[in-house]
Amino acid sequence: MTLSLVRSADVVLEIDLAAIRANFQKVATLVGPEVRVAAVVKSDAYGLGLLNVARTLIEAGCHLLFVANLEEALLLRSCFGGIAIAVFRDEFERFGTWYRSHDLIPVVNNCKELHAVGTAGEGQTYFLNVETGFSRFGLSVDDVTREYLLRTFERYRPSIVLSHLACGDCIWDGTNVLQRDRFRAVYDLLKPTRGSLAASAGVWLGKVYHFDMVRVGSALYGIKNAGMQTNAVQPVTKLRAKILDVRNVPVGEAVGYGATFRTARPSRIAIVGIGYKHGLPWSCANKLFVRLGGYSSPLLGRVSMEYITIDITDIPEGRCNSVTFVDLLSEDFTVNDLATAAGVSPQEVLTRLGAGCTRKYLNLRSPSAAFTAIPSDAGDQ
Ligand SMILES: *Cc1c(COP(=O)(O)O)cnc(C)c1O
Repeated sequence: MTLSLVRSADVVLEIDLAAIRANFQKVATLVGPEVRVAAVVKSDAYGLGLLNVARTLIEAGCHLLFVANLEEALLLRSCFGGIAIAVFRDEFERFGTWYRSHDLIPVVNNCKELHAVGTAGEGQTYFLNVETGFSRFGLSVDDVTREYLLRTFERYRPSIVLSHLACGDCIWDGTNVLQRDRFRAVYDLLKPTRGSLAASAGVWLGKVYHFDMVRVGSALYGIKNAGMQTNAVQPVTKLRAKILDVRNVPVGEAVGYGATFRTARPSRIAIVGIGYKHGLPWSCANKLFVRLGGYSSPLLGRVSMEYITIDITDIPEGRCNSVTFVDLLSEDFTVNDLATAAGVSPQEVLTRLGAGCTRKYLNLRSPSAAFTAIPSDAGDQ
C-alpha cells in the first residue's frame, strides 16, 4: 500500500472535462461549419494533462491536435492512432524519420526546414508557418515570395499555411489588420488547402480572421481573453488546498517572510498547504482572497514554497479545523481572476498549477488503463 492511497492530497486541481468538451463545441458553433477547430495541447495541455485532455477533445470531434515538440507528439501518438498531430517546432531536419514513422506533421518555420521537407520524399505532409508581425518563428513574406518564384511550393505544397497574431486579444489594435492583410496576401499566392491565422482570441475578432481553421488552446481550458464577451467560455478548473494548522497571533506580530504583513488586531491565522511550488504565484502576496465556505479570507504576507497564511479571525471557529479545504479557484473566482490578482498571465498560472498540483478529473468518459498508468495524469481519488 502506498501512502497516497490512504490519504488525500493537500492540494487538488479539479479539471472538468465536460467543460472542455463544451468549450470546444462553443468555439465550433461560433466559427461555423466551414471552419475547422484544431486544438492546441502543447505544454501538457496547458498543465491539464495531455492524454486526458486530448482524449476528451477527440471524443468531442476534434481532428487535429497541435503540440509543442516531438516528445509530446510521440506520447500522443502512442495512445491515439487515427488523429492528425502537428508539431509547432522541433528539428524536422534532424528527426525527419521520427516524423514519418509516427505519422506526425511538422510545422515548417524556416527555409532550411522547407528544403528538408523537399528532400524527405514524396507525400511528406507539412504545414507552413509564415511570420506576419510577431517576430517569432516562420518564413518571412520575402522568403515565401522567393520560394514561390523558385516554384518550391509547386513541388511540395503545404496543406495548411498558418500565422500567429500578436494582439488577438485587443480588438482595436492595428497590428491585427496588418497581420491579416499580410497573411491574406500569402494565402492568395499559395492557395493552400487551408489557412489558419486565429488562436483563441482571434476567434472573437470575427469571421475575417477565421480563414479555414482556428487553433485554440486557452478558450478550451476556460481562459477568457480580453476581447471575448462575458460567459464566452466556461471555467474548467477548481483549486482546493487544505488547512494544515491554525494559530492565534497577538497584535503587531509579523506574518511570513520579510514581515510584509503585521497583525493590526489579535488574529487567528490558518496555514494552508499550497505555495509557489504548486504554482501559486509569489506575486499574490497580500493580494489574494481565498474562500472558505461562504466566507472570504485574505492572504497575509508572502507566499512561501509550500504554504500560505490566511486571516480567519472573522470566521466562526467551528468552520476551520485541520481537515477543512479552502477554495482558491471556483466558478466565482477563475484562473483569470487569480492571474489578475497576481499580475501574471492566466496561461502561466494554469500551466504552473497543473504541473504543481495533484490533478483530479471530473467527467472522464471511459477512463483507460493507458492513462491511469501515467502518474502525473492520475487523479487523486
Ligand atoms: C499556443 C499557440 C496557439 C494557441 O493559443 P491560445 O491563445 O492559447 O488559443 C495557437 N497557435 C500557436 C502558434 C501557438 O503557439
